[in-house]
Amino acid sequence: MPNLEARPQWTIHLPRRTHTDGARVRGRVRRRVLALAGCLGLLVGAWSSSAARAEPASRSGGGAATATVLRCAAPTVQKVALTFDDGPTRKHTTRMLAILKQHKVKATFFVLGGAARQGPELLKRIIEEGHLVATHSYSHPKKGSLEDWRKELRRTAEVIEKAGVKLSPYFRPPHGIITPQVKQAAGELGYSIILYTLLSSDWTRPGAAALTKQVVRTMAPGGIVVMHDGGGDRSQTVEALPEIIRGLRKKGLEPVRLDELLGPKPEVIESCARAAR
Ligand SMILES: [Zn+2]
Repeated sequence: MPNLEARPQWTIHLPRRTHTDGARVRGRVRRRVLALAGCLGLLVGAWSSSAARAEPASRSGGGAATATVLRCAAPTVQKVALTFDDGPTRKHTTRMLAILKQHKVKATFFVLGGAARQGPELLKRIIEEGHLVATHSYSHPKKGSLEDWRKELRRTAEVIEKAGVKLSPYFRPPHGIITPQVKQAAGELGYSIILYTLLSSDWTRPGAAALTKQVVRTMAPGGIVVMHDGGGDRSQTVEALPEIIRGLRKKGLEPVRLDELLGPKPEVIESCARAAR
């Protein structure tokens, strides 16, 4: 089974002091027992607290096994991220990919493991065309125990990696619901939790024009918008997509992938910029 633990892009933080350092210190102590006894005590104390801080190892860089929650990037960048949830689907994802290609836009797809299993070739196409594949769970549950969430994440990672596709360390919980169990499971497996500045109303099918207006008007620098390429009829989202891209660019906002928007060390921003509707 593909193993998330082996991901090279995540750093495991370990205490710096080595076994050799410890042996050197012990040798010195033997030579100058009385003079250095106090120093040794301090060194051992420092090593212990350093080790305690470093455990458990976390690949998200925070040192704690609970995931960081990100809603946007700093509003200093004239960029936004288009994200698509609940796919991939042959009917909608393929049409969206064609539009994104035509407009030279890169996006992020939060896929469901269950849907991805039906169409691994879609996962490959998403990656080959320069987009990101991230996880949105396996079966889109509303709630679950810690173990349930671990399984949801592991099963999805398995499907994605079986398709030979690189999985990004981003997780968007179904319905945007974050419980302590969701945070814990995501943190243990090295994911950052990604929310949004706008959950578009595409799922209510308001009409392509209304959807375009909502997204273009609301999005502000650093923002993340959720649209859907699965979970129902998404033809209005497909229809609106070219106008959404044009409208955002006209506002000076370039749509980019999440990794480009957030950068390698994402900053947690509590109050995300959002333009008036
Ligand atoms: Zn969803």
